[in-house]
Amino acid sequence: MKEGIHPNYQPTKIVCACGNVIETGSVRPDIRVEICSGCHPFFTGKQKLIDTAGRIERFRKKYEKFQTAGK
Ligand SMILES: [Zn+2]
Repeated sequence: MKEGIHPNYQPTKIVCACGNVIETGSVRPDIRVEICSGCHPFFTGKQKLIDTAGRIERFRKKYEKFQTAGK
């Protein structure tokens, strides 16, 4: 490898808003995310997020309507 032409790939910690820390490698030294595999409802199967915008609630209502309409 030639010096200077490759990005500096290094061990990195991705810090999630839920407190979960994922160790990975990246050219970026510090990555912050709001959601990760540890706190996303898709992975956890339960909702423990604070939904400030009410987006999840709206989605659920919409989905309920969709389900009952199909019966
Ligand atoms: Zn998380």
